[in-house]
Amino acid sequence: MSEPRKTGLIRDINGPIVTVEVPGIRSGEQVRIGEMGLYGEVIALQGAQALVQTYETTEGVRPGEPAVSLGWPLSVELGPGLMGQIFDGVQRPLTVLYAQTGDHIARGVNVPALDHAKLWHFQPAGLTVGGVLAGGTSLGTVQETPAVLHHILVPPGQGGSLVSLAGEGEYHLDNPIAQVKGTDGQIRTLTLSHRWPVRRPRPYLRRNDAVAPLITGQRILDSFFPLMKGGKAAVPGPFGCGKTVVQQQVARWSNADIVIYVGCGERGNELVDVLESFPKLTDPHTGRNMMERTLLVANTSNMPVVAREASIYVGLTLSEYYRDMGYDVVMLADSTSRWAEALREVSGRLGQMPVEEGYPAYMASRLAALYERAGRVDTPVGKPGSVTLIGAVSPPGGDFSEPVTSHTKEIIDTFWALSKELADARHYPAVDWVGSFSSHVGPAAKWWAEQVDPRWEHRRAEALGLLARDTELSRIVNLVGPEALSSAQRWVLEAATLVKEMVLQQSALDPIDTFASPEKQFALLDIAMTLYEKGAELIELGVPVQEVRSLEVLSQARRLKSRFDNRQMAGIQAFREDVNLSFDTVRLEYVKHHEQQEKAA
Ligand code: ADP
Ligand code: MG
Repeated sequence: MSEPRKTGLIRDINGPIVTVEVPGIRSGEQVRIGEMGLYGEVIALQGAQALVQTYETTEGVRPGEPAVSLGWPLSVELGPGLMGQIFDGVQRPLTVLYAQTGDHIARGVNVPALDHAKLWHFQPAGLTVGGVLAGGTSLGTVQETPAVLHHILVPPGQGGSLVSLAGEGEYHLDNPIAQVKGTDGQIRTLTLSHRWPVRRPRPYLRRNDAVAPLITGQRILDSFFPLMKGGKAAVPGPFGCGKTVVQQQVARWSNADIVIYVGCGERGNELVDVLESFPKLTDPHTGRNMMERTLLVANTSNMPVVAREASIYVGLTLSEYYRDMGYDVVMLADSTSRWAEALREVSGRLGQMPVEEGYPAYMASRLAALYERAGRVDTPVGKPGSVTLIGAVSPPGGDFSEPVTSHTKEIIDTFWALSKELADARHYPAVDWVGSFSSHVGPAAKWWAEQVDPRWEHRRAEALGLLARDTELSRIVNLVGPEALSSAQRWVLEAATLVKEMVLQQSALDPIDTFASPEKQFALLDIAMTLYEKGAELIELGVPVQEVRSLEVLSQARRLKSRFDNRQMAGIQAFREDVNLSFDTVRLEYVKHHEQQEKAA
């Protein structure tokens, strides 16, 4: 990929957009700007001049200073040593940057993404010399962290017949691992790492249908608005409603193999929170440190808005790389609104015609292309792998009709809409069951039926139906008061509250309830709906609503989720007996009471 560097001069500076004159410069090329060597990328050519988008503030840079184009596009370094890292938006390791330049990161610092001095233990795959290897073939493995076995892949497009393969041993990233003779007759040397341009999706053989849901352990997500592995989801919501908490819960608990978290320009203190909290998390699946299978990309506050634009592509490319090893990757982007704002700023400075609220006409198609990089695929060598992409959206003023939210809604499979009313009422996660949707209910139902319970789809629909009646009846109560409702209708309101408290509400801070297994999720949903049905039967018989609602089992039911953890399903199942006994007792007493009254009359 590398070509000779070309040198020229800066002509003009307009915030993050710098006009340069470098003979032979090409669109998309990486550029180093000024004496400081700020990071930048050519976004447009205008005659002999090129417009460069910089990823670092251009303050203090003057026209006439040098500009150097590197001969390759913005690309990431892929190889062992990625896991556990915290990179900035152009893949510089933040820990190394902090160590070198302190809290206020100096600009133009050139630090390689990966540690080239580190030795890795390489275990070659059983390949025969002379055999033909396609791009994407695993040459062997390196135990990257205790949680991740890293496959050393033949880079896409660099396949050929195997000339030699290194034996088992310790190697640096730059040591030759294999030699491959391409169809052009050229012999290429492959090492433990390779580079890939971030704006070009890594190739795959074919797209496949989703087969398994991403289990997040959050009931409102998994049981009500499921997302399949390889799917695309958005979490829109006003400020402070829980977008970051939802994303962190998914990062922490989901059953993905690899987690890539891109913090692109939300509030600074949030970033600090992520950077501090993640390294302390224990992986629920391995009992070890969560960072062993997590990677963070974080824009630091000294990077301008436009740098957020690049960080999402850096995250996506890293995600696709692990997908190509056959892993299920989940990528979280917080938030895509900041990404879109970067587009808007650049487009504005380029004087392009804005279409909706200042966003350029191409915003919608770029957004679609970005989400399109999610998917469940067969890799070039036929291995299944997936990238699930979940983007937070922060609409100004919480208005979901604004361009980024409305375009996102058209693109994604699953929409987890957060509501200010729910958050204000401390109903967490504040996912609004009316505004949310999932187009994955069908395939998820198949999985739930096979793995958990065949009644899942039915129960889910019944609960949503109950919640819809609750909304309707609440409106009537607001208009004409509670007296207008029948006993059966009053029980609907009671039961809906029970579903909210037993099932929908789930505190991220509750050590027992923070993650619910699919089995626990279904049991709680099923018990809540059973309580509703049994209560409705009693009310039908004539038992007063007051009497039903004061049953001890109802308050016990509200505490179930925090009382029994995922391994104590027997406790939850035993509770079903208490429910049956309690309702049967009331029914018998009521029937007996009636018979006596009839006799007396
Ligand atoms: P946003 O990213 O939308 O601005 P946050 O994710 O930072 O909002 O959430 C704001 C606050 O809401 C959190 O600090 C927390 O107190 C509360 N919160 C949100 N979701 C939950 C949850 N699932 N459990 C408990 N508290 C929550
Ligand atoms: Mg947030």
